[in-house]
Amino acid sequence: MSSPGQQPRPSTPDERPGRDPAGASRRNLLELDRAGLERFFVETLGEKRFRAHQVMKWIHHRHVTSFDDMTDLGKALRAKLETHAEVRVPQVQFEKPSADGTHKWLLAMDGSNAVETVFIPDKGRGTLCVSSQVGCALNCQFCSTATQGFNRNLSVAEIVGQVWVAARHLGNVPHRERRLTNVVMMGMGEPLMNFDNVVAAMSVMRDDLGYGLANKRVTLSTAGMVPMIDRLGEESDVSLAVSLHAADDELRSRLVPLNRKYPVAELMAACERYARRRRGSSITFEYTLMKGVNDQPVHARQLARLMRAFGNALQAKDAAKVNLIPFNPFPGTRFERSAEADIRAFQRLLLDAGVLTMVRRTRGDDIDAACGQLKGQVADRTRRQAEFRRHLAEHQAEHPAGRGGVDAAA
Ligand code: SAH
Repeated sequence: MSSPGQQPRPSTPDERPGRDPAGASRRNLLELDRAGLERFFVETLGEKRFRAHQVMKWIHHRHVTSFDDMTDLGKALRAKLETHAEVRVPQVQFEKPSADGTHKWLLAMDGSNAVETVFIPDKGRGTLCVSSQVGCALNCQFCSTATQGFNRNLSVAEIVGQVWVAARHLGNVPHRERRLTNVVMMGMGEPLMNFDNVVAAMSVMRDDLGYGLANKRVTLSTAGMVPMIDRLGEESDVSLAVSLHAADDELRSRLVPLNRKYPVAELMAACERYARRRRGSSITFEYTLMKGVNDQPVHARQLARLMRAFGNALQAKDAAKVNLIPFNPFPGTRFERSAEADIRAFQRLLLDAGVLTMVRRTRGDDIDAACGQLKGQVADRTRRQAEFRRHLAEHQAEHPAGRGGVDAAA
């Protein structure tokens, strides 16, 4: 296995510029946040800054991609934009609504890669789960995305494009017809391994001229990239979720190999620094419950101790929130979901220790859209996908009618 910190060379944001018929490259405006778009208008087009604001609204509020339809721009500017720019959105390759209102899209990112995006409506809120990479370079043992290997980082346009596709589908208008209220960077990939593009994309999500989401309604979830948590604290202001899954280093290193590089104590120290910058808000710790692996009272007590120490250090009782996620199975996994009684007991133990704890109920599992089930199409540049397929085939040959999983790429 390659070390968790290593990944194949990521592509730069604008590696694949659009081509107009004459062959000149055009800037994809979905690639730019407000500051970038203002610079493009002033420096490249020689136009006033407020023109950039008009165009942002056309793109993100009205979902218009043709400059001809941007009727409050003069004819000359529209022609100039046609020459130098484009609004290129991801192609919907496939979409699937779930019985519970969840909606999943498979979005083509280039000829050989596609990622998944999921919309989850829930009493008064609409949450979009957005992907940050094609596949994932980490190899968390219980995550379906890991079995697909890794191809590349998504560009800003490809991340913002996921929000654009969902917002258009929902008829979302910020501040008026608000259907999309929250974004979680919890789709495919490790967002902190694609730092610059993710931060720029989140800035469009939070901009009034973009999707107008409040800072705390944009959540970035990380498997624990410690140095990047610090950078995030310096450069952005969003909610942080941390995928913990075990409070103990030995177990966590087995589940989340990145823990060998950044063990629990270092991770908690980084979370503490992040929380100090964002007084009054809390950090969510995600904990996927797997039968017989990390769901016993002893694990709950370790977690409670860790969470209380975190709260004490920050002198805030609710500095940490725990989100328990019952494991979502996928073909070929060796893990199983915890029994309902164990999930309840685990939550009770934490609550009794004074730790704010919720159980995240699975949504969209009839369309494989639940946490850890996103797969997309990854032209794998590691050997992981092939290894996993071989494992799966061998296992099926040995146990033709068997239900049990295999030891996923372990
Ligand atoms: N790489 C980021 C983003 C992925 S978020 C991160 O690790 O945080 C997806 C969340 O679902 C993470 O907490 C992840 O650990 C969890 N998860 C992954 N596979 C899962 C599965 N099969 N069942 C339930 N949760 C899972």
